[in-house]
Amino acid sequence: MELRAHVLAVPIPGQGHLTPMLQLCKQLVSKGLKVTVALTRFVSSTTLDQQKNQSQLNYNTISDGFDTGGYNDASSVENYFQRFEIAGTKTLTQLVKKQESLGHPIDCIIYDGHVPWALNVAKQFGILGAVYFTQPCAVDYIYYLVNRGLLSVPITSPCLIPGLPSMELRDIPTFVAKPEVYPGYFQVAISQFSNVDEADIVLVNTFYDLENEVIDAMSKYIPLLTIGPTVPLSYLDNQIDKNEDKDYGVNLFHSNASINIPHWLSTKPTGSVIYVSFGSMADLDEKQMEELAFGLKQSEFHFLWVVRESEQAKLPKEFVVETERGMIVNWCSQLDVLSSEAVGCFFTHGGWNSITEAMSLVVPMVVMPRWADQTTNAKFVEDVWRVGVRVNEDEDGFVTRDEIEKCIKGVMEKERSLELKESAMRWKELAKEALSVGGSSYNNIQAFVSQLTSSQA
Ligand code: UDP
Repeated sequence: MELRAHVLAVPIPGQGHLTPMLQLCKQLVSKGLKVTVALTRFVSSTTLDQQKNQSQLNYNTISDGFDTGGYNDASSVENYFQRFEIAGTKTLTQLVKKQESLGHPIDCIIYDGHVPWALNVAKQFGILGAVYFTQPCAVDYIYYLVNRGLLSVPITSPCLIPGLPSMELRDIPTFVAKPEVYPGYFQVAISQFSNVDEADIVLVNTFYDLENEVIDAMSKYIPLLTIGPTVPLSYLDNQIDKNEDKDYGVNLFHSNASINIPHWLSTKPTGSVIYVSFGSMADLDEKQMEELAFGLKQSEFHFLWVVRESEQAKLPKEFVVETERGMIVNWCSQLDVLSSEAVGCFFTHGGWNSITEAMSLVVPMVVMPRWADQTTNAKFVEDVWRVGVRVNEDEDGFVTRDEIEKCIKGVMEKERSLELKESAMRWKELAKEALSVGGSSYNNIQAFVSQLTSSQA
């Protein structure tokens, strides 16, 4: 019989959700807990080698109902999450039983907010259920208010919510701002909060100083434990051994083996490269891709552009990238790229992990949000945290090449760049403080661990 508490983590199989879950799990292991991560069978089968390199975590599998092709095999987002609930409930139940029969009983299930049914499995076994919201508190709060009928949809602008800055429609998460465009995603986003009151613990991937007002506002409804940012600690210069915490671990995408990105960056002057990435899910249509390509070219800076394999056919045919000035790759180690001295600006879609990474590594941003939480994140980056600028769209909803050039040049201008870096440096220091002994996230992780350990006694 194990003496330390055993946590079973249930992430959803998107890179932006998986990475903060794995980081939290590693933190829990460093506190002496045993952690098993339940990957979907499809994700597990495609990442076996990487799992072996993450020896501090145990991996096991559950089914999302799409064992051979994963999310891409689903006919819609509704179809995906409906099947995940059915297959996931069954296989998660089996996994908990199996661990018990092997003498490693589970004490707590930590589950991504997008699979609220995992709480039913925890309750069925009388073990703790900890929901983990991997997006910023501002976005979680908006979804929560809509779920409780405290914020009506359609939203009227300006939207005034206590704890949040005044927001225009373009700042609201797109699933709530335009539910008619994303009916399935709207349901999934809002349903994260359907049973949150019954969860034993509510974890949020942010830190107190970054979002104090909205954290206080949301805490009036439900007690929150903020535990972020989940950027690997070595990048924040914290106390954990750098060799132990350098990487996120499991990547759902692969870099082009033939391209040596660190070498290419090392040949570029300090602060001269624009790093461009739209994360793991957002896509651009051909026209927008063309505007971006030529906006980058017009800016006349070096650029490293991540274009996932599934997006590459949309690159304009006439856009020839000379390897001297620009480089297009399928995927990269974003943390390493952002840490490179050569990078002077991050042109990003505004995914939550990308933003916390850029702040932690003090890289000024141009944010071009596409959907989901990115619009709200962009608002905070520009107006609240002041660590970057947001692009403007034209009347047809496109971001033109001239706008892209203007924003990049603005952020790369020496004085402006310094201002943005100074702000980012302040947030980085606060992030470090939050995660250091006695800091808000540190204390919350300790409180969580204590709850687990005492429930075991
Ligand atoms: N990422 C990466 N290499 C890339 C692009 C992205 O490692 O070429 C990582 C990035 O560091 C971040 C995650 O993928 O941790 C993307 O998460 P984010 O929340 O920024 O965006 P999402 O993919 O969820 O839209």
